[in-house]
Amino acid sequence: MKITVVGTGYVGLVTGTCFAETGIDVTCVDIDKKKVQMLLNGEVPIYEPGLDNLLARNLEKGRITFTTSLAKGIQGSDAVFIAVGTPPDEDGSADLKYVLGVAREIGQHMDDYKVIITKSTVPVGTSFKVKKAVQEELDKRKVDIPFDVASNPEFLKEGSAVDDFLKPDRIVVGIENDRAQKTMKRLYKPFLMNGHPLLFMDIFSSEMTKYAANSMLATKISFMNDIANLCELVGANVDLVRKGIGSDARIGNKFIYPGTGYGGSCFPKDVQALIRTADEHGHSLEVLKAVENVNYRQKSKLVEKIKGHLGTNLNGKQFGIWGLSFKPKTDDMREAPSLVIIEQLKAMGAQVRVYDPVAMEEAKHSLGETVVYAKDEYDACIEVDALILVTEWSEFRMPNFRILEKIMNQKLIFDGRNVYDPEEMRELGFQYYSIGRETIN
Ligand code: NAD
Repeated sequence: MKITVVGTGYVGLVTGTCFAETGIDVTCVDIDKKKVQMLLNGEVPIYEPGLDNLLARNLEKGRITFTTSLAKGIQGSDAVFIAVGTPPDEDGSADLKYVLGVAREIGQHMDDYKVIITKSTVPVGTSFKVKKAVQEELDKRKVDIPFDVASNPEFLKEGSAVDDFLKPDRIVVGIENDRAQKTMKRLYKPFLMNGHPLLFMDIFSSEMTKYAANSMLATKISFMNDIANLCELVGANVDLVRKGIGSDARIGNKFIYPGTGYGGSCFPKDVQALIRTADEHGHSLEVLKAVENVNYRQKSKLVEKIKGHLGTNLNGKQFGIWGLSFKPKTDDMREAPSLVIIEQLKAMGAQVRVYDPVAMEEAKHSLGETVVYAKDEYDACIEVDALILVTEWSEFRMPNFRILEKIMNQKLIFDGRNVYDPEEMRELGFQYYSIGRETIN
């Protein structure tokens, strides 16, 4: 079989490489020439554990190639996956210009039957817009080439994307007929070895499933952040509450960790887009609106604690930030809480030193020269008035506190991920703030 994947971002590149690993002939298309050249040289433009080795192996075997030409890339393909970005429009709805642009281009160049699969996260009904866009181009060319559309939302997580793709919890596919179903079954058969289900459904339900999944996850996070904030007020410890509720199988212990709010390229925009879809249908998604509000508030939570301790004039104060990416094991800075925290600190006159194990280069696109980029986690703490832990990279778990107390101006930590033990902080003589737990002052 031969497939084409259009868009080589976090989703497209992982999709293409993992399909190549099953022996399929894969062509990846991207408009970004620099990216395509890097990929042809075996260089992975994003940080995603395990992806470089997998790509190198499949490039060497000649099972994957990259091009900027969609016309060439789709020649002879049985299936074309659209995996380009769907950023939020000004009103929060998903901007479909990239997806529909690709659909039109496919219609302009295809010359035999294909299944055209939307893998990007798109609002309900988009696959039919893709179908219309392709058909319009075929009509302009006055050619009659059969094709099917399908919806195949992606559930991979940045940081464990390769593993998630190779061993998915489930694969969701929306189809209209048996022909498309047969192709999708063949493509995904190699990923079903561990008993994970391949769920076929209608296209509307498939598109909706992706938004419902992300919205449910975002809801868990906002719920737990709200509970953590209340824990602080009533003197409860959210760590214990989390364990207490998480051991109930109906609730489960995943995704109930409080923090500085969710970020990343998916949850914020997908929650907004679903709210928008519902509004368009005259239905107000009250739970999700609250989820969004709580998340917005949570991103300022650490800064509120900082203001409470140090006041609102931070002129002459310096802070060390540990972790910039929106979560560990990725360089993705999209909607990262660190950006909000840094902006607020700078607005109050503070100087900021930052360190992240992999996201420093990516962070420079947003932060420019407004902060000092430290060479390691200790360098980020030299002469700072407080350390702020924003992203829980594993290398921040067991720092040498004796070094920290020597290099910091004062022994003060704001922990946005509850990584350290308050009791240990007390014994070490640090003033310590975390989320939903006792403050050590
Ligand atoms: P991304 O921004 O990392 O990558 C998109 C790529 O598409 C870029 O390389 C861009 O150059 C390319 N592109 C844009 N227009 C193009 C065109 N006309 N032709 C060819 N290439 C084009 O995006 P991503 O994070 O991979 O997300 C892609 C989609 O998958 C989005 O809809 C997103 O919501 C969804 N998704 C993302 C994740 C995630 O964790 N990142 C997970 C599941 C689903």
